[in-house]
Amino acid sequence: MLKKDIDFFATTLYNMYPNAKTELEYNNDFQLLIAILMSAQTTDKQVNKVNEVFFKKLIKPADWLEMWVEKIKEYIKTVSFFNNKAQNIYKTCEILSNQDLEEFDTLDKLKSLAWVWIKTAKVFLAVTKDAAYLAVDTHVHRVLNRVWLVKTKSPEETDKIAEKIFTKQNLADLHHSLILFGRYHCTATRKPKCKTCPLLEKCSYKNKNI
Ligand code: SF4
Repeated sequence: MLKKDIDFFATTLYNMYPNAKTELEYNNDFQLLIAILMSAQTTDKQVNKVNEVFFKKLIKPADWLEMWVEKIKEYIKTVSFFNNKAQNIYKTCEILSNQDLEEFDTLDKLKSLAWVWIKTAKVFLAVTKDAAYLAVDTHVHRVLNRVWLVKTKSPEETDKIAEKIFTKQNLADLHHSLILFGRYHCTATRKPKCKTCPLLEKCSYKNKNI
C-alpha cells in the first residue's frame, strides 16, 4: 500500500468534514466520559436525548453517587446494555470522586478505570486532548474494509492495523471525519452515496451504489 494513497484517503475525508467533532452533547469532560460510555451500541442521538434533561443536574461524580445503581438504571433504561452501563457509571464515579479526571490523560491510565475499553479511551482523548487516535467503531471498520485499506473481520483487528498504516497526521485528520463519513456517506445500508463520493475511483468495494 502506497503512502500517497493513505494520505489521499485521510486528506479527502478531512476536506469533506473539516470541522468535524463528536456529536455527543456535554458540558464538561466528566459528562463526556459518561456519554461515551453510554454510547456503546447506542446512537449518539439517543444518548443526547437521555442526557438532555439529566446532564443539567448531574454535573459531577458526586451527583451520580447520590443515586444508587438502580436509580441510574431507571434513568438510562432506553440505552442498550443499561444494566452493565449503570454499574460501570457508578464504579467510575466512585473512583472519580477521589481522583481528578484530569489525571487520566493517557490510554493506559484511562484503561485502569475498569470499564473503559480502548475505543472509549481513544474517543475521550481525541475529543478532550485532540490526541491522534482513531476510534474504530462499526462505521470505521466498514469503511476501511470497503475501500482499499484493510481486509479484516472485526473492529478490534481493524484497530490494530490502523495504528500501523496511518501516520499521526492521518489519524488527526481522520479521528472525527471518518466516523461522520461512515455515518452519513458510506452508510451501512445498500445505498452508500457512491455517486458523489470523492473516493469512488480508488474504492475497491464490489457493491458500489452507482
Ligand atoms: S465509493 Fe461508495 S463504497 Fe466506496 S467509499 Fe465511497 S461511498 Fe463508500
